[in-house]
Amino acid sequence: MLLEGKVAVVTGASRGIGRAIAEEMAAEGARVVVNYHSNAAAAEEVVSGIIGRGGTAVAVQADVSDFAAADALIKSAIETYGALDILVNNAGTTRDTLLLSMKEEEWDVVVETNLKSVFNTCKAVTRPMVRRKQGGRIINISSVSGIVGQPGQTNYAASKAGIIGFSKSLAKELGSRNITVNVVAPGFVPTDLTSSLPDDMVRQTLAFIPLGRWGEAREIAHAVAFLASDKASYITGAVIQVDGGIGT
Ligand code: NAP
Repeated sequence: MLLEGKVAVVTGASRGIGRAIAEEMAAEGARVVVNYHSNAAAAEEVVSGIIGRGGTAVAVQADVSDFAAADALIKSAIETYGALDILVNNAGTTRDTLLLSMKEEEWDVVVETNLKSVFNTCKAVTRPMVRRKQGGRIINISSVSGIVGQPGQTNYAASKAGIIGFSKSLAKELGSRNITVNVVAPGFVPTDLTSSLPDDMVRQTLAFIPLGRWGEAREIAHAVAFLASDKASYITGAVIQVDGGIGT
């Protein structure tokens, strides 16, 4: 198994892509902290599914946009499993609207949930990883929107582009400690986040996807599990687009 003996925190793992990442990592042998914000029942369902398949997981509530809560999440993972090898920053949200009508709160909540959360958890995890001297893996989930932009998503695209700059910089800071920092940028994946898109818009997206279909959450999870594993030991500061070609 790719992640035997490793400990992973996956933020926003109660639903969608985060859930698939947590399940994939557990299937590959990692002990997983399933973070969620408000949907405790969904997080517990993820945990019981993992345990039912012979894996190890625990659900931990934390609003990762909050500095102290993110710090407490990382501390609780280390207390529970004794160490932390892998951090996946997946928690995210949208408030899509054209800039002309975007409210300040719609900017703030998206940037704080998607980008400040990455600062918060990375800040909490870096010192323990460096002190432990065992290396580490940080994988941040961006989006094709952060690479090519999308009307109605100035807030979201800015937060996702910010993740890329942040990750490339942190990769340069932590490379000498054998801690890799990489980004996975998904294209369109059916989850609660994309469920409100109108059918005609969904059909329009297909015309721009070379592979001709939306992705599946598990296809994102495969890339994340690879980056978290020893097989990706010489990859850092990279952005892997898992988007069917739409962002190229
Ligand atoms: P989703 O189905 O809406 O799930 C969002 C997850 O994030 C939930 O587990 C939610 O927890 C959690 N979350 C939200 N705010 C949080 C906070 N402040 N603190 C902790 N957890 C929080 O979203 P998704 O589609 O799986 O997206 C996952 C990631 O992939 C996001 O970063 C998104 O931007 C990115 N992405 C998605 C797509 C796509 O097409 N779906 C494309 C590109 C990138 P609760 O259940 O407790 O609310």
